[in-house]
Amino acid sequence: MMHHGRPAHALRAVGSLVFFIGILCLAFYLTDAAYARLGWHPHALLSLILNCFLGLFLMIALAATIGMIFRPRDRRRNAFSPITDALARIATGDFSIRLDENLRRHGVVGELVQSVNHMATKLDEMEKLRQEFVSDVSHEIQSPLTSIRGFACALRKDGLAPDDRHHYLDVIEAESLRLSRLSENLLKLASLDSEKVHFEPKPYRLDQQLRNLILACETQWSGKKLDMEVALDEATITADEDLLSQAWINLIHNSIKFTPEGGTVRVGLHRTADNWQVTIADTGIGISEEEQARIFERFYKADRSRRHSTGGSGLGLAIAKRAVELHHGSIAVRSQPGSGAEFTVSLPA
Ligand code: ADP
Repeated sequence: MMHHGRPAHALRAVGSLVFFIGILCLAFYLTDAAYARLGWHPHALLSLILNCFLGLFLMIALAATIGMIFRPRDRRRNAFSPITDALARIATGDFSIRLDENLRRHGVVGELVQSVNHMATKLDEMEKLRQEFVSDVSHEIQSPLTSIRGFACALRKDGLAPDDRHHYLDVIEAESLRLSRLSENLLKLASLDSEKVHFEPKPYRLDQQLRNLILACETQWSGKKLDMEVALDEATITADEDLLSQAWINLIHNSIKFTPEGGTVRVGLHRTADNWQVTIADTGIGISEEEQARIFERFYKADRSRRHSTGGSGLGLAIAKRAVELHHGSIAVRSQPGSGAEFTVSLPA
């Protein structure tokens, strides 16, 4: 940079000098022509003074004309003002603004226009997601609260049969549990999304973890008379045990939840060339292809009419996916409606 500065300075100085001399020569010829026409021959000193004044006047007039023609400041303000206006509107929360990219395709201004548009699009998407999230959460809170209020009112009735009373109290208890599970899951998701997620990978036996979790929910699968088939290779992995346990619990609970009585749930752990693969498969109701693309989204429940019987909030798979991705792994599903589902989690070995 230093080396480029000096020649540029010198060039500018020479340019100014030539300009200055040029202006003086012009002034000299102009005054000379004027004296000849008037037939007047002033003293040499007076002629020099007049020349200097005329030169100065010409220089100022020329500089002002050049300035008027190019007007660099105005031009710059015109090129940047739509961008600064757009940024000001984005700052006030208006993300719908888009600058016309056809006007400026090239150069710094073109790049700025594109990045402002890109930023506005991303912010717009985030805002829509946020609004959707708030509306989903409100909906999930509203429906159990409506049940609780309704059954609490019904409990006030005189002469209620003891069976009915028990049934109403059971519903109130179940719906309160659903609310507290929802808040627990929301907190889990928020912590998995935050930059400060508590992530402490340590070596541990994955096969033992899966076996313990299957045993811990024995009452659920044996209550439904499900056949639990377990085939686990011995595997030591370095991962955050609590986070992964959340993923396995959600996948195993879903398999149990969506498999009718007398069905089978299979949990397997095997090594492939680069990964440890955990498969959790069932012979349950299955998931259609369109639904498979969406089940990992927050609050998505395939077949909303089933929601009340299964009692989930649609956050389980979103949590499982996030926990697996934090371990640089992936999660996939294969299924045919009516003939079960198979979830495969791959973790780098
Ligand atoms: P939920 O709390 O509803 O279980 P999830 O995020 O765990 O939420 O699952 C989302 C949806 O994916 C479920 O509502 C269900 O429709 C579908 N699903 C998940 N696992 C299975 C499975 N093993 N068999 C059939 N459907 C499943």
